[in-house]
Amino acid sequence: MSGLDDLYREVILDHSRRPVGRGEVGDAPVTHHELNPTCGDEITLGLRDSTEDGIGSIVWEGHGCSISTASASIMTELVDGASREKAMRLVDEFRDLMRSQGRLEPSDALGDAAAFQGVARYVTRVKCAMLPWVALEACLKQLSP
Ligand code: ZN
Repeated sequence: MSGLDDLYREVILDHSRRPVGRGEVGDAPVTHHELNPTCGDEITLGLRDSTEDGIGSIVWEGHGCSISTASASIMTELVDGASREKAMRLVDEFRDLMRSQGRLEPSDALGDAAAFQGVARYVTRVKCAMLPWVALEACLKQLSP
């Protein structure tokens, strides 16, 4: 096990223990629910104060494994307050990373999401990591039909 793998595991554990953005979606005007039946992960993502230009703020509720929880937390850090264009680019970059089976080097823009590089080697866990990002993409589409 390399030192980088250890560091990445630490990042994922930290975020799963103290997830950023978890709260009450309530009456958020843009929401999307996504389920990963393979693992039982569930997330409802909500956007507030958002327009076709950008995201005001993100809130999410859900339950699942440490990977899906950490992924939602890291994603929230990255795209909270971001422009719609930037958020969509990050969705694409993260999906490319997760489809690369660990061969792709994460870009700097992905920040802590680079920690999922190793997860990309495990097909069943890719769905866990992608879950919140799929929900984000669906919310972004609602912002600009
Ligand atoms: Zn999972």
